[in-house]
Amino acid sequence: MKKALIHIDYTYDFVAEDGALTCGAPAQEIENKLADMTEQFIQNGDYIVFAIDKHEEGDMNHPETALYPPHNIAGTKGRELYGKLQNMYEANKEKQNVYYMDKTRYSAFAGTDLEMKLRERGIEEVHLVGVCTDICVLHTAVDAYNKGFKIVVYANMTASFNEPGHHWALNHFRSCLNADVR
Ligand code: ZN
Repeated sequence: MKKALIHIDYTYDFVAEDGALTCGAPAQEIENKLADMTEQFIQNGDYIVFAIDKHEEGDMNHPETALYPPHNIAGTKGRELYGKLQNMYEANKEKQNVYYMDKTRYSAFAGTDLEMKLRERGIEEVHLVGVCTDICVLHTAVDAYNKGFKIVVYANMTASFNEPGHHWALNHFRSCLNADVR
């Protein structure tokens, strides 16, 4: 079965100590594993997607403006991938199997061409990593489920600022989305 690795929001704002909406230590701890996994997928020639939140400063029409402090603002450091992932992306961004895409909602499928990119390539299985487990990873997984993709989620390559939320989401992936949670 053809598969894709989908990175969700592993950016400075969501991961770094002084990020605007940081998941903190749990997110920083997964950096090496994420880098190794990404390297493996790149080597195998599998499809890699970086689905990265993009917001405009003071966007009063965006539903997240009422919920969160400004984060992942276009053109800021906050939107860069965190640590090794930024270097890895820079080194591989010209490759055909590496796709960086903006998203503006929790789900990587909402208002984007992700589904077309996956279908064009005959990809039936999506492997989800990144943050936050119970927000953007969750909403992406729900959409993937509704679109009929098989889902793999990595418990040790996802994180949240809400620890109970992280565990709740992992259980939900397993029990309601028939995901393979590793
Ligand atoms: Zn956001």
